[in-house]
Amino acid sequence: MINYTECLSLLMQDLVSRIPTLSFINPADVLVFARSGRSNAEGAFATCHCLTLPASDPGYYFWRDRSTRRITRRSEWFLTKSPAVTVGGRSIKYMISFALPRFCDQSLDRSRKERFYPGADPWIAKLDTVVHELYHIDPEMTGIRRIERGDGTYSANCHGHHFFEQVATMVHTYLESKPSAAAYDFLQDDFSSLASRFGGVVGTSFRTFPSFPQRYIERLAEQLPCEADAEGVKVETLRAANQPTRYTEDDLHVRQFTADSSKRLIRKGAFRAA
Ligand SMILES: [Zn+2]
Repeated sequence: MINYTECLSLLMQDLVSRIPTLSFINPADVLVFARSGRSNAEGAFATCHCLTLPASDPGYYFWRDRSTRRITRRSEWFLTKSPAVTVGGRSIKYMISFALPRFCDQSLDRSRKERFYPGADPWIAKLDTVVHELYHIDPEMTGIRRIERGDGTYSANCHGHHFFEQVATMVHTYLESKPSAAAYDFLQDDFSSLASRFGGVVGTSFRTFPSFPQRYIERLAEQLPCEADAEGVKVETLRAANQPTRYTEDDLHVRQFTADSSKRLIRKGAFRAA
């Protein structure tokens, strides 16, 4: 079977070594994992997740009375934090997730990126997505890349005006560098051809599948005075997060993806008695 996330990790190594704009990325800082996403359903093909964002300032939720607009209840103070993900003792800074099989079935035809690749093969859309997600990694490694507008301020949108064009330029830089076809060959097949060619498509996922490491809230150990507090304002206790906040390579497993489902792969022999 083909391990699709492994192929993507290897492709990323080749991309960052050939595209100067992405050369600051150390592939060992980036973990690739698979999520499920059907080809005929709406949704992202891939997502860049940052794990290096610092903890937020303390905050709380509050609720207002609809007619009087007065605050009637609030939560306890909390911080928002990034989970820690380590692989082989090394901290992962970014994760890029790919929706399978949706990503494999992506095509340039009638997509909004088609205009950047006149006459190109349909699978170039997938290469564009991989470069797009890598381009979200901030050179300071402290968040999702911020997009500077013409006037020197930052756009609220992480794509900005020229993002898609810049991604296409990087894709062309890569192809013009004459990479070995072995690096991107797997992108040329759609999901069903991959499945029949290799006997199945597998990818790395988290043991908590479909859940994966995400920002979580942590109750502030020392609660602060609150400007919202007045007579009658109820303070709600925060429930502890029910997702892990630390992950290691032991939390990764391999899943096999099919057109509309996925299952954890148990390696042959795993049940064999000693
Ligand atoms: Zn994006």
